[in-house]
Amino acid sequence: MTDTPTQLFIGGAWLDAADGATMPVDDPATGEILCRIADAGPKDARLAEEAAVQAQEEWARTAPRARSEILRRAYEIILERTDELAHLMTAEMGKPLAEARGEVAYAAEFFRWFSEEAVRIDGGAGILPDGRNRMLLSRRPVGPCLLITPWNFPLAMGTRKIGPAIAAGCTMVLKPAPQTPLSSLALAAILQEAGLPDGVLNVVTTSRAGEVCEPLLRGGRIRKLSFTGSTNVGRLLLAQSAEAVVRTSMELGGNAPFIVFEDADLGKAVDGAMLAKMRNMGEACTAANRFFVHHSVAEEFGRRLAERMGALVVGPGTRDGVDVGPLIDRTGRGKVEALVADAVERGARVLVGGRTPEGPGCFYPPTVLTDVSPGSRLMDTEIFGPVAAILTFGDEDEVIRRANDTPWGLVGYVFTEGLDRALRVSERLEVGMVGLNTGLVSNPAAPFGGVKQSGLGREGGRVGIDEFLEYQYLAMPVR
Ligand code: NAP
Repeated sequence: MTDTPTQLFIGGAWLDAADGATMPVDDPATGEILCRIADAGPKDARLAEEAAVQAQEEWARTAPRARSEILRRAYEIILERTDELAHLMTAEMGKPLAEARGEVAYAAEFFRWFSEEAVRIDGGAGILPDGRNRMLLSRRPVGPCLLITPWNFPLAMGTRKIGPAIAAGCTMVLKPAPQTPLSSLALAAILQEAGLPDGVLNVVTTSRAGEVCEPLLRGGRIRKLSFTGSTNVGRLLLAQSAEAVVRTSMELGGNAPFIVFEDADLGKAVDGAMLAKMRNMGEACTAANRFFVHHSVAEEFGRRLAERMGALVVGPGTRDGVDVGPLIDRTGRGKVEALVADAVERGARVLVGGRTPEGPGCFYPPTVLTDVSPGSRLMDTEIFGPVAAILTFGDEDEVIRRANDTPWGLVGYVFTEGLDRALRVSERLEVGMVGLNTGLVSNPAAPFGGVKQSGLGREGGRVGIDEFLEYQYLAMPVR
């Protein structure tokens, strides 16, 4: 912790907030303050925007190979410092160290992937159909970007945006979540060490997100917003972006269905459920939120899942052998408690968990609810906690209709041993991603994103860089 930067990173310099404001970063395992960091206001945001705008032209002209090599070096530094970064992440966010190490590797991979993409930005040339005109097509960076990230994957949500922005030749202002700013500041220091020129990445940590971001979005100099967070905040930012017609990428909330058919391999389904539900203590946009299990296997599935969930060890993420860390804060835990209470009031049975432990920290036990009523509030909102809610279904059409009956469409999970059914059901689910007999879809080489109110655009994969590039078409007569 002693070497972790705690100031704003603007134009390559570490600065206090202009008004001297600071804010605390808490440890969710103890509720104690880890440290205080700079708390930016609108003046600091303007300075960061100015730094990004000033650096844009030269950065856009930098050789793709040079941009690629900065990313590659940063990838290597991140991996060398896995342990240090994982401890930092666990301290500010709570996830167990083993998961934090996994996230460091996942986060680094975005830099390796986009270091490879930076040198593959292509254009096109050709004769237009009239035969009289020629077309030259080139791709250029969209311009200075505002990147806003959530707290649940403090490092990976940053690298998933910064990687393609650097590869495309964009400069940026990053505003991380106030609960987990330390990972982003550490990342900025690593990129500086890897040779990123001053002003290309600027980081403003703040407790005043609206005051800091809105003027940038409306000001006309920021050309792109890439946001990951809740659908409600995404909607607000889309409205703010409309004024200056800022291009947007939106990675928003989910309400993932997890469907287990009667012909599923139940062993695989329970393994998949553990991953899809318990990765990140259930605090993931991809977390399975609604378990639809065929009535003929529901009891057996519930029993096996409850056994596995009940065996998980809850405790501070730094302690050996812990599987489940604390939730991010008391508000997050309070939401989970209220959703479970509502489901139980409407007739759900608690197979395991369901009771908040005494003592400090924001812990909540792995919980399995069965006989959940379709009217329960946890059917219409992200639980964002370690709670699996099981409902039963009778036939394929019915479960597809119920799975799609939500404004969200990020990911769905399907468990069946029948190939025809697997493809048929996957194709009918209104989601951007499907986990077929697996509980994990995230991979830097695959396009991540949702449909409906889960977002706009994709991050990662071959298309991830497109979000940061514009086309320019040049017309020229054929002589
Ligand atoms: P959130 O409340 O929407 O916040 C996300 C980020 O937006 C934070 O940095 C937050 O800062 C900032 N923010 C909030 N209001 C703002 C405003 N008016 N102007 C500018 N920035 C603002 O979401 P969260 O609770 O941190 O994260 C959980 C949500 O993220 C869930 O819905 C989850 O599904 C979603 N998520 C989606 C993906 C995906 O790829 N689709 C990945 C991870 C998470 P403040 O906290 O200071 O307001």
